Amino acid sequence: MNSEKFDYIIVGAGSAGCVLANRLTEDSNNSVLLIETGGSDKSIFIQMPTALSIPMNTKKYAWQFETQPEPFLNNRRMHCPRGKVPVSYTHLTLPTIYSV
Ligand SMILES: Cc1cc2nc3c(=O)[nH]c(=O)nc-3n(C[C@H](O)[C@H](O)[C@H](O)COP(=O)(O)OP(=O)(O)OC[C@H]3O[C@@H](n4cnc5c(N)ncnc54)[C@H](O)[C@@H]3O)c2cc1C
Repeated sequence: MNSEKFDYIIVGAGSAGCVLANRLTEDSNNSVLLIETGGSDKSIFIQMPTALSIPMNTKKYAWQFETQPEPFLNNRRMHCPRGKVPVSYTHLTLPTIYSV
């Protein structure tokens, strides 16, 4: 087991985790461990603008969360995906946003 020590441990390399890690490492005296449970973001489906619906609906790239039953929607549950790669959902949506 690795016994390396860190000043800060950040769990989740989503938008907030990456910003926090970036800020903390501006001071080179800080050592930061950024942990992300998702896998690599090296996929054509993430890099390709307009392919957003593919990673959004793939377990490998997105948490397939659902809302509680919505009483005003006949108790249907709404699909509520969240990114599961470094930079998380922002990474899945950015290629689309910047291609507009
Ligand atoms: C469909 C959709 C479209 C969106 N479009 C926009 C947009 O156009 N513009 C905009 O500004 N915002 C948009 N958002 C919102 C934006 O994605 C979120 O506000 C932002 O990602 C929240 O950041 P966060 O760091 O809190 O969480 P996230 O970015 O979700 O990061 C959480 C990270 O933690 C990881 N994680 C979870 N559990 C663990 C664990 N146990 N161990 C290690 N890692 C873990 C996850 O895999 C994930 O990478 C959108 C969101 C959705 C769902």
